[in-house]
Amino acid sequence: MAVDLHLHSTCSDGTDTPAQIVELAAAEHMTCIALTDHDNLDGIDEARLASEAAGIEFIPGIELSVDYEHTKMHMLVYFLEPGTGPLQDLLAELRRGRDQRNVAMIEKLNQLGYEITADDVARHARGRSVGRPHVADALVEKGHFATRNDAFDGLLSDGGVAYVERDRLTAVDAIGLARESNAVPVIAHPITINLGVEAGPTFRKLADLGLGGIEAHHPKHNLPLRVKFEEIASTLNIAATGGSDYHGAGVREFRVGKGTGDLLVPDRAVDQLRDQLNR
Ligand code: AMP
Ligand code: FE
Ligand code: FE
Ligand code: ZN
Repeated sequence: MAVDLHLHSTCSDGTDTPAQIVELAAAEHMTCIALTDHDNLDGIDEARLASEAAGIEFIPGIELSVDYEHTKMHMLVYFLEPGTGPLQDLLAELRRGRDQRNVAMIEKLNQLGYEITADDVARHARGRSVGRPHVADALVEKGHFATRNDAFDGLLSDGGVAYVERDRLTAVDAIGLARESNAVPVIAHPITINLGVEAGPTFRKLADLGLGGIEAHHPKHNLPLRVKFEEIASTLNIAATGGSDYHGAGVREFRVGKGTGDLLVPDRAVDQLRDQLNR
């Protein structure tokens, strides 16, 4: 039995609705899923209802992009309920930061000779967290690139020629706010963090501050890395979680419950995550 605790819907930059994702999870016999859209909880109610109907346990979640010292990381926050709360109340501000950054990115693209407008980008976004994936889709539509990925590689990736920074919380603040909101913060896909030899001490420091888990199982982690992050989480007495980071069929080739084929997130990840609620 397996779970998938990292899923994106049309409420952010995925291409399937929350209900469609639950259908896919049911087809893969998932026992528990979490919806983790970027910067909003808009899909939670739909996903929860559909999960109940399908007999799948459901955990509400979100994914944030945060600053940590000289680097950036993604933070998954589990058991975060829609409505108001210390972290929930900041989400509108984070989305405003996205909108301002999109304006700046479109201006930069125009200066580089790519003719796209805010309307072009908006047409590709179905939710309230609009960002680079939707800009990339607009560039593809205009014929500048063949795929979303190519647009990232050519222009939009971190440090790319059309890249623009946006306002982010710090990892330390996000951990504090998550805990104040009765939710559990987890470092997402740590392979993507530029930490090198500082990784061990960083995880320990953040665990002391309330970090509740590390996403050990992710399609971008090879098997030895999944084992390594499981061990680090176990040493720190925090959860080792995982998920497919599904964004839709054909987007980055990650599938619900399976990742690129070899993903298997054990049920115990949910028990460990739940234990973190009482810390
Ligand atoms: P943003 O939140 O607007 O900064 O955009 C980041 C999102 O873009 C990530 O959550 C991914 O879903 C997506 N993304 C990042 N890198 C790539 C890439 N190389 N190809 C396609 N999508 C990407
Ligand atoms: Fe995304
Ligand atoms: Fe991420
Ligand atoms: Zn994600």
